[in-house]
Amino acid sequence: MDRIKVDKTPKNILTGAITIKMDSGRKKSFKAFRIQHNNARGPYKGGTRFHPQVSLEEMKTLAYLMTLKTAAIDIPYGGAKGGVAVDPKSLSVGELERLTRTYMRFIAPVIGPRVDIPGPDVNTNETIMDWMQEEYSSQVGKKTLAIVTGKSLGNGGSEGRESATAQGALYFFELVARQLGLKKGATVAIQGYGNAGHFMAKFLDEAGYKVVAVSDSKGAVYVSGGLDPEATMKCKQEKGTVAGCYCKGSVCDIRFGKTISTQDIFTLDVDVLIPAALENVIDAKLAKKIKAKIIFELANGPTKPEADTIFEDRGITVIPDILTNAGGVTVSYFEWFQNINGEKWSLTKVNRQLKGKITKTFSAVKKIVRERKISYRKAAYYLAAKRVADAMIKKGQV
Ligand code: NAD
Repeated sequence: MDRIKVDKTPKNILTGAITIKMDSGRKKSFKAFRIQHNNARGPYKGGTRFHPQVSLEEMKTLAYLMTLKTAAIDIPYGGAKGGVAVDPKSLSVGELERLTRTYMRFIAPVIGPRVDIPGPDVNTNETIMDWMQEEYSSQVGKKTLAIVTGKSLGNGGSEGRESATAQGALYFFELVARQLGLKKGATVAIQGYGNAGHFMAKFLDEAGYKVVAVSDSKGAVYVSGGLDPEATMKCKQEKGTVAGCYCKGSVCDIRFGKTISTQDIFTLDVDVLIPAALENVIDAKLAKKIKAKIIFELANGPTKPEADTIFEDRGITVIPDILTNAGGVTVSYFEWFQNINGEKWSLTKVNRQLKGKITKTFSAVKKIVRERKISYRKAAYYLAAKRVADAMIKKGQV
């Protein structure tokens, strides 16, 4: 295969400390980042993560993945990522808002609606995106909706954005299922029950697949007959975790399922395993024990490179993150497009456009897999890297 490689080194790095006043009156500082990896194909684009493990290395990797993802799904953006090393669950709402607004003032000089457009990621949601949009607008003295995506519907958000990552993933899942002969009723385990994991469970269940186990940071639940995703979410909201949530419809009973550990979910005898929490969770040791025949990466970077090699050797198919979770950034692009052009699309239009992008991308990747006899990950990276390289050559950047 001709070797095309996108350099992982980002074009720009913004890093520093941001300081906010806590409710107690004392001041506290947090490490903050905005990494701009590549803009050969369009403005930098990438989410905002609030998590204690946020670090420069993690941000750089995620920004690089965004460059590949926007290229693979063919939207006119580059790649970026931002975040704050903080546990948002330890903050009051007031502290969270002050942190968000201070973070926006920190990054405002390097972003812009046609320069770099942040969006949501782990632990950030539409309320946080609305605060970011308001803060940027007050900084530049002009209401600027297109500065962030993932905003609330009443504030320039797009129909379908909240569940877009999982909606796009479902479209990919159905195409993969058809390609690999996976039948309805196939069993699925999902690690992570946040935005991506929960909506994915809901859509898979509605599509006729059997979600038998889900986990969050506190524990996991296994229901051999298939769990009810909505009842499980209701239970999580009430109890603070999916562990111990034994619900079928509106009826909850301990006989319906059992609590398992957050590690056990990986090695269940299921058809498909979906990591939908954080990166680097599957290492070589775990890869040897996994029984699923398909790993469908909904989180960014959940599989370590050495695990990937083991999956290839064991004949386990990995559908990579830059394909499966690209629905989020694709609908973010639709939101930005609507903001720039003063349009308001219906959910039907959003989903039709999203499905179109995904179908086109999957056939392009499938063709490379078939012609070059390589994995889906290598094929998706090849497709994306070629598009980035072509854009860089056109712009005289190489
Ligand atoms: P989220 O904050 O809504 O949810 C994360 C979930 O992971 C939570 O349920 C949390 O409890 C769980 N979790 C954390 N540590 C865990 C552990 N050790 N074991 C089991 N569960 C654990 O985040 P999200 O938006 O759903 O993002 C999840 C992944 O999907 C991330 O990798 C993110 O980058 C990726 N992603 C999300 C979007 C999006 O639009 N939400 C888009 C693209 C990619």
